[in-house]
Amino acid sequence: MSFTGSKTNGSSYEKMDPASYKLDDFENTFRNVIDNELTTTAKTRRAVDPSTAQPLGEVPVSTQEDVDRAVKAAQAAFPAWRSLSTDDRMGYLLRFADAIEANQDGLGPLLGRETGKPPPGVAMELAQLGGLIRQVITLRLEEEVVEDGPERKAIRRYVPLGVGVGIVAWNFPIGLGIVKLAVALLVGNTFIWKPSPYSPYTALKVVEIAARVFPKGVLQALSGEEDLGPLLTAHPDVAKVSFTGSVATGKKVMAACAGTLKRVTLELGGNDAAIICADADLATVVPKIATFAYINSGQVCLAIKRVYVHESIYDTFLKAFVEFVKTFQVGKSTESSSTLGPVQNSMQYNKLRELYGEVSKSGLTVPLGGDVPPAESNNGGFFLTPTVVDNPPDNSRIVAEEQFGPIVPLLKWSDEEDVLRRANATTLGLGGSVWSKDLERAERIARRIESGTVWVNTHFEITPEVAFGGHKQSGIGVEQGLEGLKGWCNHQSVWVRKN
Ligand code: NAD
Repeated sequence: MSFTGSKTNGSSYEKMDPASYKLDDFENTFRNVIDNELTTTAKTRRAVDPSTAQPLGEVPVSTQEDVDRAVKAAQAAFPAWRSLSTDDRMGYLLRFADAIEANQDGLGPLLGRETGKPPPGVAMELAQLGGLIRQVITLRLEEEVVEDGPERKAIRRYVPLGVGVGIVAWNFPIGLGIVKLAVALLVGNTFIWKPSPYSPYTALKVVEIAARVFPKGVLQALSGEEDLGPLLTAHPDVAKVSFTGSVATGKKVMAACAGTLKRVTLELGGNDAAIICADADLATVVPKIATFAYINSGQVCLAIKRVYVHESIYDTFLKAFVEFVKTFQVGKSTESSSTLGPVQNSMQYNKLRELYGEVSKSGLTVPLGGDVPPAESNNGGFFLTPTVVDNPPDNSRIVAEEQFGPIVPLLKWSDEEDVLRRANATTLGLGGSVWSKDLERAERIARRIESGTVWVNTHFEITPEVAFGGHKQSGIGVEQGLEGLKGWCNHQSVWVRKN
């Protein structure tokens, strides 16, 4: 199989008529994409709309045979895709970004339905996609001449791995996959996207769009039940698995990949601390902390999950925080006034109901929320009241575990060393932030937080140019940045003897 830069005919990129990318059905038909063909399976399943708990459309339940076909097609496409110049692959990715943008009207309501995200959340995820791809493709791994003397030359270069698999969580069903595939494809790998069974719809549509852009076998999608991930991690012809999900599943993925020594990147859970110093300007800091804590109803790996507030401002902060959180409007994805949607699925909803129950039974002080509305009062939707917990003990579950929901503990601190010890007293290490007018001091404290990303006076800011990953059990390896590109390559040293 061979192909060239298609419409770009080389390295130039030519914008195509958006009509050629437009899908006309975002409601009824959801298919696997294997070798650019839309295929279904004997057995199908449905996920549910978390705003109503009503079933959505049928999606395929892929089997070993589907996995084998997709891996074979990805292997067949690899040599020609790898042989293209990076600029030619960039041309394809640029057209893919255009094509996603041409379909925003269809993808938006579908993303809202499958995730429960209210309009601002849907807009945020969709608006980033084209930009993400356009930023990723500016990155380049150049060959480097490490030594060049009269007798010998040594060169460091990076070569793609082969068939890549991306397995992702349900909280950002498109964004998580796009970051992985843009990097994997740019450096010359082929890619199979496995969405979460809780949110397969937009991912399948995005790859259906991709089938109008990329050559056969370069980008594929498989939907299925929870047994599909293990079929992919066990497959001998998959070269790399990039996984985003829970710590528990991440460990299983790593163990499964060991069998064939697949490359593996793990982006796992977080329990991010925000440390608020005594001099922080509450008028600006409180709204930001609340927004970064409750964003997407708390279902974000990098959301603030523990807020440590200096004791001298604790009471004022707590009061202002509660008042701000009260302004969030909980509602369905279809209601234009909602700012916080339901929890995305019944599994997470039941875990959180149990946690809310435990907070209430343990007698912790709850200045806002705490109650779990009966499911009937929400037409079966997975809605929870935004909740604030006032200074719970460090060993309570709401502090020690990743809650991944709209319930946030505020904790008092007085001594810098002690608050750092408490912030770092976790097996997780994804992100953390320090908030103060004294930037030097704040940066000094932030650098001692044991996490892959630390911020001063912000949180949750990431860009494709800067590497992102977790310390401790929050992950292995990084995504994004030049280091993320290297993660999708084998390193090769070329030695040339000149005499
Ligand atoms: P999960 O681990 O249950 O599922 C993630 C994916 O793994 C799904 O696609 C699932 O079908 C698949 N899977 C399940 N069992 C598998 C197995 N044995 N082998 C291979 N794949 C398997 O996680 P979730 O509930 O979907 O996501 C929530 C978690 O994800 C939270 O902990 C959150 O912090 C984390 N997360 C991390 C990041 C990050 O970038 N670090 C981003 C988003 C979410």
